[in-house]
Amino acid sequence: MITPASGKGDGKEFISWAPGYWSDTPPELRNDWKWQLKNRVTTLSQLEKHLQLNEEERSGVLISGDKLALAITPHFFNLVPRNNPEDPIRRQMIPRIEETWASPYDMADPCGEDSHMPVPGLVHRYPDRVLFLVTDRCASYCRYCTRSRVVSGVGEQELHTNFEEAFRYLEQHTEVRDVLLSGGDALIFSDDRIDKLLSRLRTIKHIEFLRIGTRVPIFLPQRITPELCAMLAKHHPLWISVHVNHPRELTIEVKQALERLANAGIPLGNQSVLLAGVNDDLETMKTLVHKLLMCRVRPYYIYQCDLINGSSHLRTSVAKGIEIIEGLRGHTTGYAVPQYVIDAPGGGGKVPINPGYVLYHDNEKIVIRNYEGKIFEYPETGNENVQFAPQREYDDEYLYS
Ligand code: SF4
Repeated sequence: MITPASGKGDGKEFISWAPGYWSDTPPELRNDWKWQLKNRVTTLSQLEKHLQLNEEERSGVLISGDKLALAITPHFFNLVPRNNPEDPIRRQMIPRIEETWASPYDMADPCGEDSHMPVPGLVHRYPDRVLFLVTDRCASYCRYCTRSRVVSGVGEQELHTNFEEAFRYLEQHTEVRDVLLSGGDALIFSDDRIDKLLSRLRTIKHIEFLRIGTRVPIFLPQRITPELCAMLAKHHPLWISVHVNHPRELTIEVKQALERLANAGIPLGNQSVLLAGVNDDLETMKTLVHKLLMCRVRPYYIYQCDLINGSSHLRTSVAKGIEIIEGLRGHTTGYAVPQYVIDAPGGGGKVPINPGYVLYHDNEKIVIRNYEGKIFEYPETGNENVQFAPQREYDDEYLYS
């Protein structure tokens, strides 16, 4: 295995980390997604066989069985270095005692999903689209998971999705034109099961658009088989949102898996969560968004980390998120710039958070700032007599008013 030279290993190169800790396993097994799932790292002794844990991690692993299970596929575990507890991949995946810290802001259900669930497993929060929680299982578990109350099956709640009731609800609610399958992660189902689920949704004529939110191509790229891609392509228009937080997650195997999905005509977007010590700096984010474009994935959202119980050590400031967007917008390809959002606590939905480019606006004109800090004016339509200066000199009046 290649050990990253720097703590964050933030290069743009695509690397295969295989066979890594599994050098005795033949490639035909390592390349089999079912072998990967069966051989996930799930216990303290398996972790300690490969890693030197510090006290915070060791204690965190001991309590993880009551909160969010520990499980990491061999493919993804190969990205975790033996010695560095502050490594950005390790911080996302290895439980830490800080998960027991109770911040006054922490919530079990920060996005208010349970209160917008007309049918068990179906969240209807926005007017024309629903979130369909089809499973509580994932290929690996992220320590900051916003749905950790149900995901992995060991948390404080259980997910009991009622599929028949959900289909009936969708048939009756003709305003729903977009269904997002999430969970958990639908792509850990068999091809046949996913096909049946998508086919059933496709019998509902007013559903125009299907989406799958998944981290499987990242945790388990072997799952993205040609057969899976061919089956998904039967259900177009179908889009996929993946979830990558750090450039090192984009390995050679992941890039190839994403290309297989793109070649099946599936538009790909990425959702990142802004996490302290993982990706809360401009250079890491810039490398990530550039690598995503090379994988034919459009950076879609950066989420401010939800106020999920036990995640305060991974949360970073909103100011940092704005600073990152400001460092991307105008400085690099527009397609590379995701929308930064806060999922409003309690169920308010995603709210876009942008740097302040509008300095002043009335019914005569708007005064705006570009990425270089230069100030411009644009007249409001219908006010032909307004005096305006296309580009203004530096002007304290607008900067500090
Ligand atoms: S893959 Fe998604 S749903 Fe699963 S643990 Fe990670 S964040 Fe949660």
